[in-house]
Amino acid sequence: MGNPLRDRRTPSKLAASGQVIEIAEKITNFERLASIVEADLLTLDPDKLPSDWRDTVVAGRLGFSFSGTHSSVPALHGEVEVTIDAVCQRCLEPFRLPLAAELRLLLVEKNSDAVKVDGYENWELAEDKLRPLDLVEEALIMAMPFAAMHADDESCNEPEEVIDEPGGIVQPFATLRSQMDDEN
Ligand SMILES: [Zn+2]
Repeated sequence: MGNPLRDRRTPSKLAASGQVIEIAEKITNFERLASIVEADLLTLDPDKLPSDWRDTVVAGRLGFSFSGTHSSVPALHGEVEVTIDAVCQRCLEPFRLPLAAELRLLLVEKNSDAVKVDGYENWELAEDKLRPLDLVEEALIMAMPFAAMHADDESCNEPEEVIDEPGGIVQPFATLRSQMDDEN
């Protein structure tokens, strides 16, 4: 018995078998995502660091199929979510930040003729096989805001001057994401 979230398989096999994957995994199983969250939290004073941030769970569901109009193109439909611990870039206090992503992807080979299906984005595969976990992780990283902040002023503890201070804003997500973009 394999683990469908972690095994590398071709999208065609996943689609042909109608693979469905229910996800309930600790964030630490998503190494890049966890390292981004950790780097952000390490900007806090140690006594403010949420001790249980590693216990947060990534949840969701993925389903593979062949897309209706292009029956030979594997498609992925799914939703994933996680509530991470993050540092508010306005008041610099930790808070819980929900992230969610809906995936509607056509899994296409690199440089293949452009296929388009309404409502689906094309996901170019770097290799023949894919590890569903990597897709989930990428989607959640893309769902991160460039500057995480308390959603409402009432929970936010700090004056807004911080945000107007030139160069005074740390954006760990943005920095890490631009680094990752450079690597790709
Ligand atoms: Zn805040």
